[in-house]
Amino acid sequence: MVSTLSITVLGSSGSYASPTNPCTGFLLQSREATVLHDCGPGTVGPLQAAIELDELDAIVTSHCHPDHWLELPVLRNVFTWFHPRTGISVYGTAQTRQMDHNLHVAVEGAPSPFEWTVIDNTSELVIGDQHWTFARTDHPVETLAARVEVDGKVAFFTSDSGPDFRYDDFAARADIAFSDASHLAAFEGQSIPHMSARESAERATSAGVEHLVLTHLVPGGDPAAHREEAVGAYGGRVDVALAGDVFEI
Ligand SMILES: [Zn+2]
Ligand SMILES: [Zn+2]
Repeated sequence: MVSTLSITVLGSSGSYASPTNPCTGFLLQSREATVLHDCGPGTVGPLQAAIELDELDAIVTSHCHPDHWLELPVLRNVFTWFHPRTGISVYGTAQTRQMDHNLHVAVEGAPSPFEWTVIDNTSELVIGDQHWTFARTDHPVETLAARVEVDGKVAFFTSDSGPDFRYDDFAARADIAFSDASHLAAFEGQSIPHMSARESAERATSAGVEHLVLTHLVPGGDPAAHREEAVGAYGGRVDVALAGDVFEI
């Protein structure tokens, strides 16, 4: 691997999958670790296209909304019955842990492949050479933005957030930022707990982000329109995350 950190978009659709794009899932591959960040519905298919399932070291979920983690019970079945493994680290909020627990029907003699750890905005994770830290976003449930540093390179993920989340200090000068841009500026001011492409761009500008990737567009959203709106408020490179995209830093 030439890059320090490779980020594959398994899916990026906001709230529900589109016909061609699963819900949110990012695969982070570095020299020492392979980590799945969010596992929304539909992400297990493209996960298998990206890696061998045995290569997965950990799963870090951002919050309990179903479009960000509902493939977790499916992955439990995969790693219990079809690719038996134990000791896969799973991280998420207390609410996500509780919901996953409620969906888990334990079977005698079949140990869970997952080792669950509840995290919050004070948590720090070291997964191989990946150093993960978190910040609470502007969203109706406890939602954790993630800053992932590998050998001095920084990738940042806002997860879901309204416009009141500022990350000027937390993710200052990140090499790449994947930012909620669920809607366009025409929908601002309606108390939607997500950002417009314009708001996303303004936050990225304020934090001095190197490369902005818009994500969580709702099905039917026009990637070109989102990109155009962000370009008007941000001077750096802008992309829209789509299933299958690979970004490297
Ligand atoms: Zn979402
Ligand atoms: Zn959400």
